[in-house]
Amino acid sequence: MSGAHSHIHGLGLDENLEPRASSQGMIGQGPARRAAGIILKMVQEGKIAGRSILMAGPPSSGKTAIAMGMAMTLGSDVPFVTLAGSEIYSLEVRQLLQIFDKKPLLTGHIQMSKTESLTQAFRRSIGVRIKEETELIEGEVVEIQVDRSVTGATKTGRLTLKTTDMETIYDLGTKMIDQLTKEKVLAGDVIQIDKTSGRISKLGRSYGRARDYDALGADTKFVQCPDGELQTRKEVVHTVSLHEIDVINSKTQGFLALFAGDTGEIKPELREQINTKVSEWREEGKAEIVPGVLFIDEVHMLDIECFSFLNRALESELAPLVVMASNRGITQIRGTKYMSPHGIPLDLLDRVLIISTKKYELEDIKQIIRVRAQEEDVSFEDSALDALTQIGSQTSLRYALNLIAPSSHVAKRRKATQISVQDLRMAYKYFTDVGRSLAFIEEQQDLLMFGEAGVRTSSNS
Ligand code: ATP
Repeated sequence: MSGAHSHIHGLGLDENLEPRASSQGMIGQGPARRAAGIILKMVQEGKIAGRSILMAGPPSSGKTAIAMGMAMTLGSDVPFVTLAGSEIYSLEVRQLLQIFDKKPLLTGHIQMSKTESLTQAFRRSIGVRIKEETELIEGEVVEIQVDRSVTGATKTGRLTLKTTDMETIYDLGTKMIDQLTKEKVLAGDVIQIDKTSGRISKLGRSYGRARDYDALGADTKFVQCPDGELQTRKEVVHTVSLHEIDVINSKTQGFLALFAGDTGEIKPELREQINTKVSEWREEGKAEIVPGVLFIDEVHMLDIECFSFLNRALESELAPLVVMASNRGITQIRGTKYMSPHGIPLDLLDRVLIISTKKYELEDIKQIIRVRAQEEDVSFEDSALDALTQIGSQTSLRYALNLIAPSSHVAKRRKATQISVQDLRMAYKYFTDVGRSLAFIEEQQDLLMFGEAGVRTSSNS
């Protein structure tokens, strides 16, 4: 299955953050990609938590694609959460209907306020990297490997841990390494035992410095003997979100709610306790905060209550980078009678960095269609690709991309391996674009249900 953005694997930038013409599925929109790359760098360096970006541009100009590219570039343990403004809007509608009905509208569905839903999204976007220390386990088979950097050769041997007594393990390990190399293992040397590969290697001397330990991966056990004193330590690192910690500790919900996805409201006192606990862990060096990214699409669908929540939440110590996207120009701020750019209040707009995306040129549209065709495993005759590019330019890129699958279906029915202009024409006839659909609606106004003459649409307003 290929999703709308499955061809995007990153922002397609080189090491100087310059956009490559076509890379990682990304085409064109260079300045916006470069700006997104700079922001990402700041996220990775932990310099931009609590800030907000607005991706502003016409429909189908790659705002979501660039946000996806950012997500793919971030490490797997940096949270990336997406939320559509309309999800929050539908919560509001559901609550209003509930008031009219004077009964729960969806039985069994846990109701949630708009700000609770935003709070959860914020907390899902903050990772907590927790470090845990565990001991060696008896009966484990470990492979002893002599580190290349020490001896210039790699030699291996196997050792079953009959004991967890470090004195004995150290002696055995030392003897084996001594046998495998001519080099003696001395007090102060650091021996690494890799849990996954089971390898033991001599890292070098620690001299009480942290440098040697920094090199150790997440799943590494190591035996350290500074000043002749033996210690074991295995550091396992998990990253969970603040929201997951909230849910796991919430008596009413419990961790199973995480699987159901319906976690309901979480008490503010519990969140306070979790925040205190996490800051204690940070002070003790047991945990690190990983501010992630919260992507809010269709941000103009949020109302004034949500915007003032965002303003406040961005001030908090535990805030992610908030990336908002809107394809609206000057529009009403929901919940008020005021107009504003993108329907966002000026005080919030003032603190936002704006990245604008532009309508694509013909050549970019063609390239994007090509990449999508590859992703969907279909091929076009040159003339059909040119025709679809024209359609994309005159209607919308998204409509052109949506025609790929049906026209390929038409081509397959006539057992052709490539989509022809004729196949495309059929698909174009079966599935109308917004412009033609609107013309049809206007023509059939009297026959359609719930028609209201004189209704304002984006194309006639
Ligand atoms: P809207 O305002 O309607 O939400 P958008 O600006 O978020 O639109 P996208 O959804 O990102 O637009 O783009 C529409 C389609 O085109 C998606 O399938 C997307 O992956 C693809 N696309 C857009 N820009 C690019 C690009 N620069 N490179 C590759 N694919 C792109």
